[in-house]
Amino acid sequence: MAASNGAPLVVFDFDKTIVDCDSDNWVVDALGATSRFDELLRHLPWNHAIDAMMGELHSEGKTAEDIRGSLTTAPLSPHAVAAIKTAYDLGCELRILSDANAFFIDAILAHHGLAAYFSGTDTNPAHVDAAGRLRIRPYHDFGAGAHGHGCALPTCPPNMCKGKVMERILRQEEEEEAAAAAAAASAAGSAKTQRRRRAVVYLGDGRGDYCPSLKLREGDYVMPRAGHPVCDLIAASPPAAAVRGWAGFEDLARVLLGIVDAEIARAAAAEEEDAGAAGAGVGVGVVVVPADCRALPLPARQEALMPQAVRVPN
Ligand SMILES: [Mg+2]
Repeated sequence: MAASNGAPLVVFDFDKTIVDCDSDNWVVDALGATSRFDELLRHLPWNHAIDAMMGELHSEGKTAEDIRGSLTTAPLSPHAVAAIKTAYDLGCELRILSDANAFFIDAILAHHGLAAYFSGTDTNPAHVDAAGRLRIRPYHDFGAGAHGHGCALPTCPPNMCKGKVMERILRQEEEEEAAAAAAAASAAGSAKTQRRRRAVVYLGDGRGDYCPSLKLREGDYVMPRAGHPVCDLIAASPPAAAVRGWAGFEDLARVLLGIVDAEIARAAAAEEEDAGAAGAGVGVGVVVVPADCRALPLPARQEALMPQAVRVPN
């Protein structure tokens, strides 16, 4: 659901972006199966290997509750928690887009009381079967008889193309925005009313986070974790979205909340300009924030925006 104050939609990767670990490796290490998992990875794709690993742990007597228990100790920075809660309080919709799995993510979010802050999670499905064994499935079926996700980028693993999911999320954003614009035009008795969709912010660290970054458009933001694989990919071939790196979780909170503040200020300035233009009896235009203003601290940004918003080439 689109926020009314211009707060962006924030889409988080999970491993090494919300929790400061790879949750698959965390569980395997915690349950003493590291070398066996390494063996499985020699002949299975990662997503199949973690499912097979869960099968072996089950046959050794490890329960789904043992797995859930191991996830409660996964490292989660208080700064990440604060960023999530503050962004939500400021009006952001939050989602997760992860190549982990639904069981691990749900267990960690529930343990920390964070589940209600997220409107949805796109990840590999998981369930505990009748025998009590945790099953983990690929997001996109692949292998014999399956079509796979069809993305040609080598940075997307066979079980999940996050770019395909991001395309769906962006399509939904556009549909909701078009419906809101039509409703606003109808209420104003004019076809001239235009709205600008809220920005989308994507945070990630890994190779699989490159494809969804490329799907974002001008006016959106990608937040790559410094020193992690997605940074090199973005540096080699940047996306259309503005790039705002972060190093550590205190920095994640600072950068993310700076973007949220800027977008809320931009929406307020655009609304004020619309009101002024309507009062002067002229047509309403779409305000494009000068790129330089996005990096300013909030007071300077507001000052730069308030006198007159202008369209500038990017
Ligand atoms: Mg990650």
